[in-house]
This record gives sequence, structure tokens and C-alpha cells, in this order.
Amino acid sequence: MKIMTIYAHPADTVTNCGGTLARHADNGDDVVALILTHGGRIHPNKYAEEWRKDDPDEQVVSSGVDDIIENKLDELRRAADIIGIGRLVTFDLDDAMSTVHEEVVDRTAEQIAIEQPDILICDYPLHPAMTANTHTAATMTALAALGRAGTYLKNLDGRAEVNVKQVFFTSLPVFPHDGLSTYGVRNDVLVDITPVVDRKVAAMDCFDSQGYSGPFARKLIESNNGEFGRAAGVNFAEAYYRLYNETHALLPLTEAALAADPLTRHVAYSQVNLRERHPLP
Ligand SMILES: [Zn+2]
Repeated sequence: MKIMTIYAHPADTVTNCGGTLARHADNGDDVVALILTHGGRIHPNKYAEEWRKDDPDEQVVSSGVDDIIENKLDELRRAADIIGIGRLVTFDLDDAMSTVHEEVVDRTAEQIAIEQPDILICDYPLHPAMTANTHTAATMTALAALGRAGTYLKNLDGRAEVNVKQVFFTSLPVFPHDGLSTYGVRNDVLVDITPVVDRKVAAMDCFDSQGYSGPFARKLIESNNGEFGRAAGVNFAEAYYRLYNETHALLPLTEAALAADPLTRHVAYSQVNLRERHPLP
């Protein structure tokens, strides 16, 4: 199986689905990550914090766009190695991006056609008026590119159509544990990342320039992945919303559902003390 992620910023891949990707990499699946922007403007802690100092480090405050991109790429490469991402494709666009650009759709569609992934992962498209809209613009770009790659015709484009089987959306910020609690959209696929959670911590610790290392890595995984883990009946989980319906020959029941013991699962999923296992660096 080949999995392709398409995200706005370098760290998004790790924070949203790094554990899932690590599990697939361990399973022998191919993982490729496409990142549209250099992410220099989002959480620019390393630079903004330096500017606030009375005696700032001259090298940091004089960093230009190339230095900022290279530093972030270095963080991304180290994180990708830890997770097991086999290929990184970075467009290094400015992350002031707030809408869809046709040329970026074309470049993204080309990458989808090169990679021919079975599965695509990207952010859930939240309201585009929100300040986090670069994520939504990235997903709009990804879906437009998916449509474009799906309608490639050899006569016109020199390559055949691409058939991506499923799209999983991350970062949908709703936490109900069942299908009726909110009568609304919810994450309906939960992946147990407990066996690889240490690698997710280590990969997030790579993103020092945006303040993701240290307390934030632990906070995000304990709270977000911890709460999705509670819904999943495991210590830590990543949550997804599927784009396409699923077709089965018979009504599906997962291995986890068959193995779950309702009497003890609240104890079983509360075993890992992340901050004890990963003291602050
Ligand atoms: Zn982001």
C-alpha cells in the first residue's frame, strides 16, 4: 500500500498523522509526504522570540527566507526519518497562501500522478474564513488536484487517470465517542498509535524552531491523541474522517471491537505516562 499526505506546513504531517504513518511504515507500506509551504510564518518562535530579547542573536534575526526554509527542512528531514516517511516533496511556497492557485493544483496533481497512492491524507477542510485557512487552502488544493489527476487522459495529458481509493481527513475538532452524541460530523476511524507513540514524541521534538519540542509535543499527544485514545479504547489514537463510503460484503466488526472488555478498558487505556517516559529535553 502507498500512502500520500498533503499538508500546508512541514510539521502538520507529524502532528496530525505521524503515528499512523509510523505504523504503516513498520508494516512495509510506502509513505510519501507532500508539503506545500515552507511554514516560516506559522509559530515562528525561534525568530520572533529572538527579536524580543534586548541583546538578540545577530545570526538568528538576520536569517532570510533561504535560512528559514533550510532550518525547517532540516527539522522535517529528521522527523521524517524517525517516522519512516520514505519520500519528502516540498514546494516551499510562502505560507501566506490563503486560496487555491491553479498552478499549485497542477503541480500537486502531477505529484499524485507520479506517486499513484492508494490513500491520501490531508486536513479536514474547516471554514476558510478562519485564521488557520492555509490548512483549508492546502486541502482544497489537494482535492482539486485529486480531481484533476483522476481525469487525466493519455491523449490529452500524456498520462492515465489516477485512482486513489480513499481520502482520510485529520484535525476535525470534534470528540464524540459514538454516532449520536452530536448528531453531526465526527471522526469515524481511529488508529491506535500507542506502539509508536515514542516516535511521535521524538519527531515532534525535532520542530524546535516553532516551539513544538518539549512541553507542547507532550501536551498535544497526551490531550488530543489521549482523548481520541479514550474514544478508541487505547492509550493514544489519531482520528480520521473518511471522504468515501466503505463497501463490505458483510456488516463489519473490527478486531478491536471484538477484543474489547468494557469492564477493564478504561484502566487498560490509561497505562502510559508520557511525561515519565519522555522527560523534557
Ligand atoms: Zn500547519
